[in-house]
Formats: sequence, structure tokens, C-alpha cells
Amino acid sequence: MVEENLRKIKERIRSACTRSNRDPGQITIVAVSKGRPIEQIKEVLACGITDIGENRIQEAVVKYNELAAGQPAITWHMVGHLQTNKVKEAVKIFGLIQSVDSLHLAQEINKQAAKINKLQDILIEVKTSPEAAKSGLKPDEVIEVINKITGLPNIRMQGLMTIAPLAASPEEARPYFRGLKELFDEINARRITPEALRMLSMGMTDDFEIALEEGSNMVRLGRAIFE
Ligand SMILES: *Cc1c(COP(=O)(O)O)cnc(C)c1O
Repeated sequence: MVEENLRKIKERIRSACTRSNRDPGQITIVAVSKGRPIEQIKEVLACGITDIGENRIQEAVVKYNELAAGQPAITWHMVGHLQTNKVKEAVKIFGLIQSVDSLHLAQEINKQAAKINKLQDILIEVKTSPEAAKSGLKPDEVIEVINKITGLPNIRMQGLMTIAPLAASPEEARPYFRGLKELFDEINARRITPEALRMLSMGMTDDFEIALEEGSNMVRLGRAIFE
């Protein structure tokens, strides 16, 4: 089932890229495996996926330990809210922490990464919609926070991430994706970071094609792969 799902997903990615004149080879698929058993992650890996996303530290640690042997190619992505008291564990296993939503959290990541001599890749999570309950920096706070994060030696800013609001139709997410792409382009045009941002993580099962049309180069897929 996973194999067939991935085949369909790749087809849809190709179409969305064709529509928007983009190279499908530049799109990273992150398989978000929260709540899914190890066996299903193995199926995904067998299909050539190397990026695995989780949103809870404890669950991720268990899976990481079980899969670490013999699977050195996996990059683990933290996509859920990260509490500062979990950062020490997080920097040990995650190649990319996508959900950095405060300077305080970035400072703690920097501190814990320094202890293990790691340059930790992160994305800044941006709250692109006014919906109250979600985490993420407000768009107008992002550049100020990035300016401070660039001074942290054990962090490498790789890009931006957003979660679009739940909507009746995926089309409703388009303005939020477009807004984040504009912010991403502005940061790079103004050379706010030492190296240009490379990753724009937007799009989930219900809205990844719209996200790709608006410039995403990293889609985080759970249900589309596993159901
Ligand atoms: C669960 C989750 C996903 C995947 O969601 P689907 O709608 O199942 O594709 C992507 N990103 C984040 C942050 C998530 O928590």
C-alpha cells in the first residue's frame, strides 16, 4: 500500500511541478510517521524515502533506536512543537528541527548542540495564518529573530516551515503559502542569513500540490503515504 501511495504521490508532485515550471527532482518528501508502526517506516525506507518526520520526542527516540542500526541514511525531522527540556534529546537524533518558534528555543538548541559538537540544522516555523492556537513566529517577527539566531555558532538556518490552517478546500491555503514564499525570497534577497536559505517546508496531505505551485521544496506527508 505504501509503495502504491508513494507512486501516486510522486505522480502528483510531477504534475504540480509541471504546472508551475519547477523541477520535481528538487522536492524532498518527508514521510511523517507519527503514530505509525516501525514496520510501515521500513516499507517507506524500502521505497527509497530517506526523510522521516516525527512530532513527539519519546516516540521518535524509540523509533530512532530501533531503526538506527543498518539505516544510516535516514534524516530525522522534528515537525512538532519542541519544549526546551526536550532539546537535549532532540539534538541527538534529529538532522533537521523544523519547528523552531522562538529565540529562546534556538538558544537552547545552540547550547545543547555545542555540548555534542554538532552544527544543528533548523527551520523557523512561521504562523502564516491568524489562527490563534498554532505555534510559530508571526511573519513580522521572523527577520528580527533570524538576525539573532545567525549569531549562534552551533545552529545553521536552513529555511522556513509553515502549517496551513485547516480549511474546507486546499485552495484556501494558497495565500498563506504564497506569503511565506515571499518572506523566504525577501530574506535571501536581503542576505539576512550568512548562506542563502535553501528549504521551504510547506504542504501536507490535503494541500501539498498547492504548496508546490507556490514554491515549496519540502512536503511533509502522513496520511497520503500511510493510509
Ligand atoms: C502530522 C503532520 C504532518 C503530516 O500530516 P498529513 O496531513 O497526515 O499529511 C505534517 N506536518 C506536521 C507538522 C504534522 O504534525
